[in-house]
Amino acid sequence: MNEKIEQLSKILRDSNNIVFFGGAGISTSSGIPDFRSSNGLYSKKLNRNFTPEQAVSHTFFIRYPEEFFDFYKENLVYPNAKPNDCHIALAKLEEMGKLKAVVTQNIDGLHQAAGSKVVYELHGSVLRNYCMKCHTFYDAGYILEQKGVPHCVKCDGVIKPDVVLYEEGLDDKVISGAIEAIERADTLIIGGTSLVVYPAAGLINYFKGQNLVLINKSATSADSKADLVINDDIAKIMKEAIEGIY
Ligand code: ZN
Repeated sequence: MNEKIEQLSKILRDSNNIVFFGGAGISTSSGIPDFRSSNGLYSKKLNRNFTPEQAVSHTFFIRYPEEFFDFYKENLVYPNAKPNDCHIALAKLEEMGKLKAVVTQNIDGLHQAAGSKVVYELHGSVLRNYCMKCHTFYDAGYILEQKGVPHCVKCDGVIKPDVVLYEEGLDDKVISGAIEAIERADTLIIGGTSLVVYPAAGLINYFKGQNLVLINKSATSADSKADLVINDDIAKIMKEAIEGIY
């Protein structure tokens, strides 16, 4: 394993246009579980069980807003989570001028909390919430403080998290920004994702650079395409690799 970390350090040393693509595995050591692994939701009122995917769908949000926010507040918002060694290493790489962008499937805002500036949040962020009627902004704290469905203080409209729900499209500007960054990159590091979730697999196809690095606890479908595969804890690997650059 040390040999692989040295190899990663060398790649980081020689690269000047790194893009990082990350999924839920990046934030698990910050105490944020992958919500897909949660047990879903049982609604007494509706006398029904819902899978996590159903509970965070657009249809569910519109039809059963109370149940949506029950699930959402319990499983998707972690106000006390702190960036871990992976977030911190990536922010350092950006500060060094080596890393040009982070593309993330996570909605926790931890990359920015660590100091990253260029972050493409494919699925939005729980830190941004908007009134559906008048578009007034609300932070995550306001959503968590409200009992049941959060409403706007100005117009009483329902507040919607700026999170891409199932059945909703991704933001075009975010997608095109992510694609451009990946197209220009000399190194693409993919971490903490099994690459099965749309649009992860498709985005990787835009990469034309030299080094494709995959860091994940278990094997992924793209392992055979990668120049370097490390099956280990990404926070530990990134911390050690960045220490080995100089
Ligand atoms: Zn409003």
